[in-house]
Amino acid sequence: MSKIFNFSAGPAMLPAEVMLQAQEEFLQWNGTGVSVMEFSHRDPAYVKMAQEAEQDLRELLNVPDDYHVLFLQGGGRGQFSAVPQNIAAKTDTVDYLDCGTWSGYAIREAEKYVSQVNVVGAAEQTEQGKRIQPASEWQLSNNARYFHYCPNETVDGIAIHDIPDVQAPIVADMSSNILSAPLDVSRFGVIYAGAQKNIGPSGFAIAIVKKSLLGQPQPEVSSIMDYQLQAKDNSMYNTPNTFAWYLSGLVFKWLKRQGGLAGIGELNQRKASALYDYVDASDFYRNEVHPDYRSIMNVPFQLADDELDKHFLEQAHQAGLVGLKGHRFVGGMRASLYNAMPYEGVEALIDFMREFERTHG
Ligand code: PMP
Repeated sequence: MSKIFNFSAGPAMLPAEVMLQAQEEFLQWNGTGVSVMEFSHRDPAYVKMAQEAEQDLRELLNVPDDYHVLFLQGGGRGQFSAVPQNIAAKTDTVDYLDCGTWSGYAIREAEKYVSQVNVVGAAEQTEQGKRIQPASEWQLSNNARYFHYCPNETVDGIAIHDIPDVQAPIVADMSSNILSAPLDVSRFGVIYAGAQKNIGPSGFAIAIVKKSLLGQPQPEVSSIMDYQLQAKDNSMYNTPNTFAWYLSGLVFKWLKRQGGLAGIGELNQRKASALYDYVDASDFYRNEVHPDYRSIMNVPFQLADDELDKHFLEQAHQAGLVGLKGHRFVGGMRASLYNAMPYEGVEALIDFMREFERTHG
């Protein structure tokens, strides 16, 4: 089979090395004669692996000791309700920055649990492209229990590169950019992410929670989404997604071998720059995001004539470039360049785009 590069936004490609290791160990994990999927999560061998995964994640992100690292279920959206239920009271005010599609879902979910959800600012169109309103324009509350934003909007390809300078504890949905570059975790109250882009299989989620933010959760919070309960039970209050935890652990080890977040961050910058530079230089393709707000992970681009979209996708597929269809809300194309995408994948995409432009431009 010739080489396939998978640009899917998620579930997304995982490192080939990790997939091969998982394949090799699939039936016989850790010399035990059984698969990791058939193992009790209470077995000392499994617990050791799980703890090592947490430790590796802590090392990669340099997570301070006063933070819980939780391995949960329910993906990114599960955290949309877990966050308000765990760190706000119903009568609190919370601030949300509406960065794009996923922020909108997070806002609508929070409205179920907190009476005052204040949308402080939003994405907007400017002459230089789509961006998020600058911080000077945000209408922040003076008593917000937390400030929520999504630093990388997967659908829109919009990103906020600097951590906002706000008083309230910052909650960030990093589903599509976690582990993509070095990060100062101590600036955040909660970081959460669905796993299926830079971590592992879908349905799994990670939450990194500053311990001092946890008081009494809302009384109706489901036990499996109760951060304190999960922390007390080392994220094993209920049976965790054992396979996802294992695979994520392999990804963390792989990341360490790539030079950690500094190493992968540098590679991610190079991949995104190569593609944006090519798109900007072309009259045939365009990206509609303001240059200061462009995502490093998800690069949407449009063709000069959207009648050609179908041909582009078909021919790309034949060339081994898959998962390029833009989100149904946005149309056009989207190349997701998560950690596992090698530089040669981006080169192959640019070569294909150049040839398509030559024959259709
Ligand atoms: N937040 C962001 C930024 C996402 O990209 C996604 C999924 N694409 C989600 C939340 C929702 O994640 P899930 O489907 O795992 O619930």
